[in-house]
Amino acid sequence: MMYEMQMTIKKLIAGNWKMNGTLADAKALAIALGAPSDKVEVCVCPPYVHLGTVAVTLDPSVKLGGQDCAQTANGAFTGDISAPMLKDLGCSYVILGHSERRQYHGEADKTVAHKASKAHEQGIITIICVGETEAERNAGIHNEIVMKQLSESIPATANAQNLVIAYEPVWAIGTGKTATLDDIRDMHAVIRHFLQEKLDNSNSIRILYGGSVKADNAKEILAVKDVDGALVGGASLKADQFLAIINAA
Ligand code: PEP
Repeated sequence: MMYEMQMTIKKLIAGNWKMNGTLADAKALAIALGAPSDKVEVCVCPPYVHLGTVAVTLDPSVKLGGQDCAQTANGAFTGDISAPMLKDLGCSYVILGHSERRQYHGEADKTVAHKASKAHEQGIITIICVGETEAERNAGIHNEIVMKQLSESIPATANAQNLVIAYEPVWAIGTGKTATLDDIRDMHAVIRHFLQEKLDNSNSIRILYGGSVKADNAKEILAVKDVDGALVGGASLKADQFLAIINAA
């Protein structure tokens, strides 16, 4: 695989609304976001049941994403939502392999890869999440854990156009703790190197940081080398906080 020069990529700020809010809340948040800066790509990922309403409420410059999708296109899979359904509602992104899916739904890397290939078939960009637990970091095996997640969660259908990686240390999600800037830089370098070994044009693949990104720490995190954006949970539920993060990018 050829090594490429580092080039400038438009940063991506993605908001993961998780399982929060009524339909009225979702609509109000979509309206409050307005038309954010066009220097940054912005995406919001509401709960499935709010996607249709948010899709018609958002400013057209803001992209829509799902929080997960099924491994199959249709069929007898009660409760699941497929990639074609997300596409139908206007989603251009989907988050896959979030640590909450891995932890509470037992999602394995191979499952994430199957889901991602279904999303790629629909032309949906996958935000594949990876990250170590606190115990794994304390044991000094964080790089190996993330490399394994990357090698098994990214399907053969992935390329520089349809892949985004989110590095989210599990212990930093929703806890108010963030990784140090040095730790973020080191892990993003490991991920960049992995992508360079595997995929063409890999320097244009965005690597997001996620884990308690807030208005007051976004600027310094987003300035770290190879941090090409952020996946934001809690702070994406408040328009002023989310817009401040977008403006920090
Ligand atoms: C997330 O759930 O992806 C996340 C980063 O959450 P928070 O920003 O709340 O830590």
